[in-house]
Amino acid sequence: MDIDSLIKASPIVADLMAAKEVFWLNPDYGDSANLPVSQADIFDAAARFDRFASYFVAEFPETAPSHGILESPLTPIPKMKITLTQLENYSLPGNVYLKEDNKLPISGSIKSRGGIYEVLKFAEKVAIEAGMLTYLDDYSILREDRFKELFSHYGISVGSTGNLALSIGIVATRLGFKVKVHMSSDAKTWKKDLLRAKGVKVIEYDGSFTAAITAGRKEAEKDPNMYFIDDEGSYDLFLGYSVAAIRLQKQLKDQNIKVDAHHPLFVYLPAGVGGSPSGVTFGLKEILGPNVHAIFAEPTHISSVLLGMATGLNDKISVYDIGLDGKTEADGLAVGRPSRIAGKLMKTLLLGIGTFDDERVLAYTAALWDSEKIKVEPSATAGFAALRQAQGYLSEHYPMESANHIIWSTGGMLVPDSEYQTIYQLGKKII
Ligand SMILES: *Cc1c(COP(=O)(O)O)cnc(C)c1O
Repeated sequence: MDIDSLIKASPIVADLMAAKEVFWLNPDYGDSANLPVSQADIFDAAARFDRFASYFVAEFPETAPSHGILESPLTPIPKMKITLTQLENYSLPGNVYLKEDNKLPISGSIKSRGGIYEVLKFAEKVAIEAGMLTYLDDYSILREDRFKELFSHYGISVGSTGNLALSIGIVATRLGFKVKVHMSSDAKTWKKDLLRAKGVKVIEYDGSFTAAITAGRKEAEKDPNMYFIDDEGSYDLFLGYSVAAIRLQKQLKDQNIKVDAHHPLFVYLPAGVGGSPSGVTFGLKEILGPNVHAIFAEPTHISSVLLGMATGLNDKISVYDIGLDGKTEADGLAVGRPSRIAGKLMKTLLLGIGTFDDERVLAYTAALWDSEKIKVEPSATAGFAALRQAQGYLSEHYPMESANHIIWSTGGMLVPDSEYQTIYQLGKKII
């Protein structure tokens, strides 16, 4: 990799190398594109989640209040808006909401969308091919021992920084699959411990997420009964995330939040490998149209999706290639090489990406508790950083007085209290 010519072609690479906070505007935003996925795929995924609703009500009683649908609240956070703009000294017209995937049932993270979806799709396929299930059955029969016996002949494996393994591990072991997860050194110990307690086989690597997932993929290739969920390129994961848009459309209407040319909606999403924010963004664009605008957020030390998109190299370049150390407190975003599909699918759908110093997410985590009593993990607050960075550009191009902002909060419910206290105290020192 010749760094000088990279910088010449994409000058922002110099700032990324220096781990500076930047806001990158996507030059291809809004161009027409020919995508390999369509709105029909989103509705197909939504219908599959619906078929499994009766299974969830019976197997995971915490999903009974939502009738077996895994969804999170959309919460206005006016106090956090005041705290934030005072803390960072900028003005922010419009309303700010938090999409609380930190409260999503089962994994308490956005991975309950994509990860669980892919497990369900695989389980449905196996059960139907075995002649034991039809699409019109009540899927709560999947709890019966004969299905556990069937699924026990199959393994599911995944490479993960933590939350993807939690969502897949919890649901797949309950269905009866053998589950193996390959985890990077960044993955938090409590996430590994929780997985082992659920009967998941956890394999730890000294190296990066990329090393862990590559080793996991190789191992799974040797075993025909091992199904590998590939965070670096799965369309099933991607479509599972996209279903969020159908649910959000209704939440927006119920809360009288308009989305039109005079009421643009800005959505800020943390990016690791880029899969979850891309899936959500694709769904939002398909379901809500051109007046919703997505912006990603990444740590300055591991700005993998930005590096891939700005250079056009996508997954052919990693942050280690430009000398970054890849270290961050935002463990859910600790991915040095972006997914094979995210950058390509986002080429015309993503407005831009902001990068942030770790201090900010620690501060936001504490501030969100102090102002709104909402518990999240540091990665989940990354959108607040992008919100701040984007305002200069947005205020010159959109009617901001009537705009709405959604910070997509991506995880937190399962963080143990002692762990959360440590993070909170670190954040309090900064604010
Ligand atoms: C996985 C994760 C993300 C990012 O999702 P990617 O698909 O890796 O881009 C963001 N926040 C949290 C808490 C996560 O676990």
